[in-house]
Amino acid sequence: MTSQFIVGITADLSTSIPTDLYINGQWVPAQDSGVFAVVNPANNQQLANVASACEQDVLSAIDAAHKAGPGWASVSPRARAEVLRKAFELMIEHKEVLARLISLEEGKTRAEALGEVAYAAEFFRWYAEEACRDQGIFMRAPSGANNILVKHQPVGVCLLITPWNFPAAMGTRKIAPALAAGCTTILKPASETPLTALYLAQLLEQAGVPAGVVNVIPSKRSSMVSEVSLSDSRVRKISFTGSTEVGRLLLAKASERVVNCSMELGGNAPFIVLEDADMDVAVESAMVAKMRNAGESCIGANRFYVHQARAEAFSSRLAQAMSELVLGDGMKEGVDVGPLVNASTINKVEQLVDQAVVLGAKVLTGGARVAGPGFFYKPTVLVDIPNNADILREEIFGPVASIITFTSEDDMITAANDTIYGLAAYVIGANVGNALAVADKLEAGVLGVNRGFISDPAAPFGGVKQSGIGREGSQDGLHEFTEKKYIAIEW
Ligand code: NAD
Repeated sequence: MTSQFIVGITADLSTSIPTDLYINGQWVPAQDSGVFAVVNPANNQQLANVASACEQDVLSAIDAAHKAGPGWASVSPRARAEVLRKAFELMIEHKEVLARLISLEEGKTRAEALGEVAYAAEFFRWYAEEACRDQGIFMRAPSGANNILVKHQPVGVCLLITPWNFPAAMGTRKIAPALAAGCTTILKPASETPLTALYLAQLLEQAGVPAGVVNVIPSKRSSMVSEVSLSDSRVRKISFTGSTEVGRLLLAKASERVVNCSMELGGNAPFIVLEDADMDVAVESAMVAKMRNAGESCIGANRFYVHQARAEAFSSRLAQAMSELVLGDGMKEGVDVGPLVNASTINKVEQLVDQAVVLGAKVLTGGARVAGPGFFYKPTVLVDIPNNADILREEIFGPVASIITFTSEDDMITAANDTIYGLAAYVIGANVGNALAVADKLEAGVLGVNRGFISDPAAPFGGVKQSGIGREGSQDGLHEFTEKKYIAIEW
């Protein structure tokens, strides 16, 4: 196995991080010897070279997952649950290494990285419990002609593709339910953040996951990985988290063989402050919903619709709170906001803000990047944004709050729903009945009412419209990896 000591991880933990591919329980280099560099977004320095899977490696991983399938499917739910429970325990035991890896390759602050590890590990604990509770149906047909038996069976070999913004949680949110359901998997992590996924594979091996059940194949050639996998009749499912743009391409490819799809895609979340909102709750929730992971979150609040009567108070308090945040290397103590992940992400944020300002938007705080090295953008609040600014339509994926005022609730709801996306939304209002009535009218799959933090492994997470298909977390997340088999019986 090729593994590397990574500066920042290993000084006091003496742990080396694997950098090969993990296929069939073996650590192997790419068959064409390809590698790619992983860099630290806080200083643009190289952290490691990681093996880059080629076509032959993808086929080896499919082979391994296919061969391991019947064995893993026949393991009892209880035994599968115990492996998942062990994975949870190992993640908690090694949370320090995981958190440092996440900070180093993704940029999260230490506190947020530890939070991600806890959230990510919880998927293993939750699905360890759910593995034994997956119930089918037995009933007498209404006609009395026969009995109806419905069994849940594992869907088979699953291709899992994850984004960089939550390198641990986006992987465990798929691997844990897939394993609980009895599926075998091939994980292609994002090229920006493969180290966390590779280290996770090592922990899964220690937890007792048999060879071939989880394969991890970072690759610089992501479209080759999906082309080869989705063309192979042994691959029965794709579960993808990432942009809507790439999701559409994968859905088109999957349609050729009618492959089972789960899609967790982009968002453009509205955050609504009603006239009766408690300002402390509004600002505190806004900070969480906006600034989690420096704004690089699919459920990040993008557009703040604030009642005209509260706009001045909310905007000035939010701008004050944003201006007090300390920007810096996420690994350092006292830092509140880390770097954005790469040049293209910061360039997009900069373009969106600059265009809005040229069109007439006013900057209350921030509004510029910080000189490098590293990809730091100042926490920003914009007001008076003209309707034709792209920032009101596109996913910002950065630390920028765009504030829009409203007087009519109906017009605000129409504007909030006027997007191709439908992932998250937030409503802040003291009259909870009214806030829930607004929430009911919003086209979103996950909502926060009087709170900005909404992720929970026990809850169904997913979007409507072009934000996705299917749900992760909860028992629904397990069912994404099962097929129902109906048997009509008489005896
Ligand atoms: P991305 O779509 O660029 O990449 C996601 C993954 O797909 C990466 O592993 C990437 O290497 C791979 N990929 C890229 N092109 C591919 C192709 N043609 N074929 C196969 N794989 C391909 O997204 P990103 O920049 O990594 O992540 C940010 C996006 O992810 C945002 O839009 C965000 O909203 C979304 N996201 C959604 C959720 C959710 O749960 N809905 C969660 C996190 C992130």
